Amino acid sequence: MSPLDRLASLPRLGIGQWPTPLHRLERFGAELGIEVWAKRDDVQGVALAGNKVRKFDLVVADAIERGCDTLVTTGAAQSNSARAGAAVAAAVGMRCVLVLSGSEPATSTANLLLDRLLGAEVRFVGDRPWRWLDEEVDRVVAEVDTAGGQAVAAPVGCSSPLGSLGFALAYLELDAQLREAGVRPAAIVHASTSGGTHAGLLVGRALSERSVRIIGVDVGGLHPHPDEAVSGLAAEAAELLGLDPPVAPGDVEITTDQIGPGYALPSPAAAAAITSLARSEAIVTDPVYSGKGLAGLVALAGAGALDGPVVYWHTGGYHALFDPVHGDRQLASG
Ligand SMILES: *Cc1c(COP(=O)(O)O)cnc(C)c1O
Repeated sequence: MSPLDRLASLPRLGIGQWPTPLHRLERFGAELGIEVWAKRDDVQGVALAGNKVRKFDLVVADAIERGCDTLVTTGAAQSNSARAGAAVAAAVGMRCVLVLSGSEPATSTANLLLDRLLGAEVRFVGDRPWRWLDEEVDRVVAEVDTAGGQAVAAPVGCSSPLGSLGFALAYLELDAQLREAGVRPAAIVHASTSGGTHAGLLVGRALSERSVRIIGVDVGGLHPHPDEAVSGLAAEAAELLGLDPPVAPGDVEITTDQIGPGYALPSPAAAAAITSLARSEAIVTDPVYSGKGLAGLVALAGAGALDGPVVYWHTGGYHALFDPVHGDRQLASG
């Protein structure tokens, strides 16, 4: 079987509404002086969606084939990924256990509210590094198995090699839409943290006849060497298809200049970009992921680094706007 056939034959839930829309941002693009298209992964059907739905779609479909009845995954208290896992599990009638860093807040808001609404069992484990959270997921999986269930683990961001392949499929989905629209973009720009989105897009590009620059905007600084993390994950994902590693670390384009005050914290550049997109297109991004990705695009355009149309991959996440931690102070001034 060819790598492309292997990708096409992976079990899928088909839980999102794909293809997600692709459309031009006329007014926003005019402000930046470049042609901008939006790939709308913020709208795809399941509990307000976002990019993680594509990864869980493959991971949970595979788990069901193996007889699993429980999904265990992890993230911060306001994790988009954990919420997407809770949503996908609910949609297929699976039990879901979420291992969340931090401590239980007095009230559940935004993503945490959705986690509970969707019926996930939430376990707060205090402030922990990412690696520890992934290890705790493995411990919970063992606990479920001992109790007679069968659990599947999804790591932080659902960025396992299999989960990342959701974005190889997504690259091909976009490629078909661009052909139909007659657009040859100079670059795709997207927010990046755990790296699965970027890695999957690179695998998709290796499978496609048309090669586009893929620029990740690191919004959290979670990996000390994000290029190595992304190229390593892309190699593991490619291996599942019998494909050679698609990129060397030095060829991964990832900018680290939008991290601002740090992971899960808004930046002034993101606030400006979010406001500008909201007012020119009535499209809302979040303050700490897709908004920082958008700020990365604005910065690249301002530096004259994008020659030709650019696709902004809207990865979703706007629930965080309603998290009182971010509040309206940064965003609604101006
Ligand atoms: C997780 C997330 C990202 C980054 O995707 P990774 O695959 O983890 O790099 C970008 N935007 C939003 C809204 C996210 O939730």
